[in-house]
Amino acid sequence: MCYNIREMIKLDVSLANIHGIGPKFLARLKKLKIETVKDLLRHFPSRYEDFSTIYKIAELQPNQSATVQGVIQDATLKRSWRRQMAIFEAMIEDETGSVRAVWFNQPYLRNILRRGRTVNLAGKVGLSEDDIYLSNPAYELVTSKQFEAKHTASLVPIYPETKGLTSKGIRLLAKIVLKNLQSLEEFIPAEVLKESALPEINQALNQIHFPSTLEEAAEARRRFSFEELFLLQLNNLLLKSALAKEKAPSVPADLEYVKSLLASLPFELTFSQKRSLWEILRDMGKPRPMNRLLQGDVGSGKTIIAAIGALVTAQKKLQTAFMAPTEVLARQHYLTLKKFFSDQEIGIALLTSKESAAFYEPDLEIEIKKAELIRTIKNGEIKIVIGTHALIQKNVEFKDLALVVVDEQHRFGVQQRAALIGSNIPHFLSMSATPIPRTLAITIFGDLDLSTIDELPSGRKPIITKIVAPANRSRAYQFIREQIQKGRQAFVICPRIESADTQINTDVKTDKRRLLWEVRAVKEEYEKLAKKIFPDLRVAMLHGKMKSEEKKDVMRQFSDGSTDLVVSTSVVEVGVDVPNATIMMIEGADRFGLAQLYQFRGRVGRSEHQSFCFLFTDSSAKPTYQRLQALIEAKNGFELAEKDLNIRGPGQFFGESQTGMPDIAMRALQNPDLIKIARAAALKIVQADADLIKYPLLKKKLGEFKKEVHLE
Ligand code: ADP
Ligand code: MG
Repeated sequence: MCYNIREMIKLDVSLANIHGIGPKFLARLKKLKIETVKDLLRHFPSRYEDFSTIYKIAELQPNQSATVQGVIQDATLKRSWRRQMAIFEAMIEDETGSVRAVWFNQPYLRNILRRGRTVNLAGKVGLSEDDIYLSNPAYELVTSKQFEAKHTASLVPIYPETKGLTSKGIRLLAKIVLKNLQSLEEFIPAEVLKESALPEINQALNQIHFPSTLEEAAEARRRFSFEELFLLQLNNLLLKSALAKEKAPSVPADLEYVKSLLASLPFELTFSQKRSLWEILRDMGKPRPMNRLLQGDVGSGKTIIAAIGALVTAQKKLQTAFMAPTEVLARQHYLTLKKFFSDQEIGIALLTSKESAAFYEPDLEIEIKKAELIRTIKNGEIKIVIGTHALIQKNVEFKDLALVVVDEQHRFGVQQRAALIGSNIPHFLSMSATPIPRTLAITIFGDLDLSTIDELPSGRKPIITKIVAPANRSRAYQFIREQIQKGRQAFVICPRIESADTQINTDVKTDKRRLLWEVRAVKEEYEKLAKKIFPDLRVAMLHGKMKSEEKKDVMRQFSDGSTDLVVSTSVVEVGVDVPNATIMMIEGADRFGLAQLYQFRGRVGRSEHQSFCFLFTDSSAKPTYQRLQALIEAKNGFELAEKDLNIRGPGQFFGESQTGMPDIAMRALQNPDLIKIARAAALKIVQADADLIKYPLLKKKLGEFKKEVHLE
């Protein structure tokens, strides 16, 4: 290969513009998403082969990877008579001895590795009979004294490859490009590099591709990990400091009113519910926007906390938008508020894309047309609106929006938020039951303040969780029947069917396809259970393709106990609250992430009755078992999250439902120490210069970074 480079290369240059890279090679690079010089240089080696010392031939040991240097004594091209394969063999000799090297299917080597030439060979030492040989070694002709090895006699970078594109090809190109690269401007402030002991960017790029030692490679890698963490946290901290300068309607809580609300509840709040409520109310009392994440295990009672926040807001004649991820949940929250607070004489409404309802007084739910409801939201009569994302459609306007609650969504898109926010920025409370390990929380949600409910209401019994192998299925069914006959209810969750491509692609088409699969799985399971297994019980089904009205009916009947068993897709995954349901059966449990299984299980264990969770799996693989076992053993969601991180790594932990998590943050998780260092560095900068006036390059880079990882 020969590249013809006349001037220094810039980072954003397309590889297609580099003379000498053929279309085939370009196409293959493209498969690895490498199109520009930057892409190429950011395609980091996955490992390095250590050929850094040149061995004497006499020292070679079988199975070792090594480089030798010698003179070619003899070279022959043969064909294997069976397979018509070209076999090229050469003997090379140094002052200590000689060794045979063999290459398959590379007949052209005959013209390169000629007798008398000096060559470096790097590869694995094989053993056949008593004779050692080098099999398909990398080679380089040693042409001069100043010869600089690229493929041999060094740490050789091994890159993630694709068909028809070897590490060697990438290596050659990377070497040439790096050599001719216009020097890059360092965007990390010098003092940060120094304090965090990181190499400068040009040096780091050279070191990660062509290190002289493994330590050098590690040093460079550390810098690039740092870079991502630093930018991520810088972004978070800047958001936070920008928000702190904004104005929000101050909602000072009337303590007597809060006390009266608490007194009206049929239970006492747990200690951590009280603490969280206090943190929230304190924030809302300030004239700056609250931006808080309320984290709490499934069933820990987050809804009521948010509801009190909404009522306090309403008492001050200000409005709340309370958003849930699904219609089922929106309706449930609406019913919760109705159940606990209908005597407050506050206008509370439900608004989804399909339904609208409202009440102002006890037992006085009024039929209200959507248009009318939207009008009363606009004129401020309705104080609390609960809904799905239909709430943030353009035609819904609030008179005095002061609080936004978002349930079960970690990060509400900045754009979505902007759609809600007029000139006045409301307080913002996001709620999540996904147990996020602290390291992750401060990395990804560093712009949010954190409140944690870390205990369950008293009197809850631990849920008995069992892994059920196929042989024990009928016994489990029998047990479930007995429980139902005692008056309890059960959920059956059907597996999510994941084909290989839906895991990579999350576009609309594959989402639709998956939905169809799920629906089919639910229908089949429903038929089986309703007709064959439990013909004597009242079985219902719930899936995403049903009409909103139908879903509502199914949930209502299940809530009031007129069905015994509901077969469902992951619709029930988040938030559904039916205390009499004490059995959670999960089909194909191995196909779900642990965080999800944990959520499912959290649907039960909400009353004084003993609850059970059955994990059905056909897989007898050890890792599956180990993973499910972690669910059984973990004391709480946080512990489970840490465990799953260890077992499967972060990507797997969150599963595909959390595609919003930047990969980089996931990778970063493996490096908690670096997170701390990066956070400290980012904090220092933000405190000293929140507008990054002294750091124009950093500011520019941050802008690019936000686009790349879709933080905007
Ligand atoms: P999650 O935090 O998972 O959203 P919910 O808000 O749905 O949990 O609450 C679960 C159930 O616990 C609800 O039925 C709720 O009324 C009830 N609950 C909330 N707080 C308490 C408490 N302190 N004591 C007893 N029950 C409570
Ligand atoms: Mg909830």
